[in-house]
Amino acid sequence: MKEFWSDRIKNLEPYVPGEQPKDKKYIKLNTNENPYPPSPAAMEAMRSAGGADMRLYPDPESGEFIKAAAKVFGLKEDQIFAGNGSDEVLSMCFPAFFGGDKPVLFPDISYSFYLVYAELYAVKYETVPLNEDFTINVEGFLRPNGGVVIANPNAPTSIALPLAEIERIVAGNPESLVIVDEAYVDFGGESALPLIDKYPNLLVVRTCSKSYSLAGLRVGWAMGSANLIAALNAVKNSINSYTLDRSAIAGGAAALLDRDYFDKCRSKLIATRERCATELRALGFDVLPSSANFLFARPSGISAEELFKKLRENGVLVRYFNKPRISDRLRISVGTDEETDALIAAIKKILSE
Ligand SMILES: *Cc1c(COP(=O)(O)O)cnc(C)c1O
Repeated sequence: MKEFWSDRIKNLEPYVPGEQPKDKKYIKLNTNENPYPPSPAAMEAMRSAGGADMRLYPDPESGEFIKAAAKVFGLKEDQIFAGNGSDEVLSMCFPAFFGGDKPVLFPDISYSFYLVYAELYAVKYETVPLNEDFTINVEGFLRPNGGVVIANPNAPTSIALPLAEIERIVAGNPESLVIVDEAYVDFGGESALPLIDKYPNLLVVRTCSKSYSLAGLRVGWAMGSANLIAALNAVKNSINSYTLDRSAIAGGAAALLDRDYFDKCRSKLIATRERCATELRALGFDVLPSSANFLFARPSGISAEELFKKLRENGVLVRYFNKPRISDRLRISVGTDEETDALIAAIKKILSE
């Protein structure tokens, strides 16, 4: 096997996405999708964009989306880069900014795609262990490096790093690019966005997948100086100029602009998250303080792996990582109130068996 594969791909361990099962209907709390539907304005925009114009290529600059993002975040249009999900944006950051003699740094426990991209693009990297309490070790990023990638809030820990700490990392690395992946920031983190005009070495990455309920549309974006954005456009236009299709450009723009709907959904989700954490703690679980749309919980009276399997048998999907330091925990996405009730009921039933 692997005949004709390049050596690099032969030896690559790709990212493993959370399962999207087709065998039956589950309560899906395993991939941090938003339990609420997308904004009605976004759905209407996607429908309109999906007509006969589909025979035409989309705008390679995703202008409508970039305009909307510039308006919502108070930036200039040349400070924004859009891509087919933030995974794609992050993947383009590696060839755009990394690959020198010094290693790129990221936490040992974080979004595992960073490691995959480093391998794919043969970028040298080192991991910085999280502190004992799963917070990010800021000091660990204050040493010579070829770049820094941090998810804030971090995944799968759900813990947010205060903005002052992020600033310490950015200010302490004037020679290298710091990427802050803010996939979950809308659920309670402090964004580094206010710092991008002050620090030319800061790039903030966001997505429509979580807080805008559009995981299926694939829209992500980066925000930083015009200089950084130009590098990302150079990479994009060396791979695929049309990364956002017509419905993604229109739907993403409409979703960003519908602030009322966005605020309503995230407030509901945060309230449910807090209730879910309280109920899990009442069952003896250790739940890390979450600023995201998921909880990272260590069960009591049963192993994480066993509970994962039993929940699956009971029609509830959560995420289990069989990895050092975190194999005793489950990552549980926050669903609707009804889904949360079903989750808690299933856990109680399993624990009583
Ligand atoms: C979900 C997630 C992303 C990727 O989201 P896209 O759907 O590709 O936009 C990026 N970073 C982290 C930490 C995530 O959890």
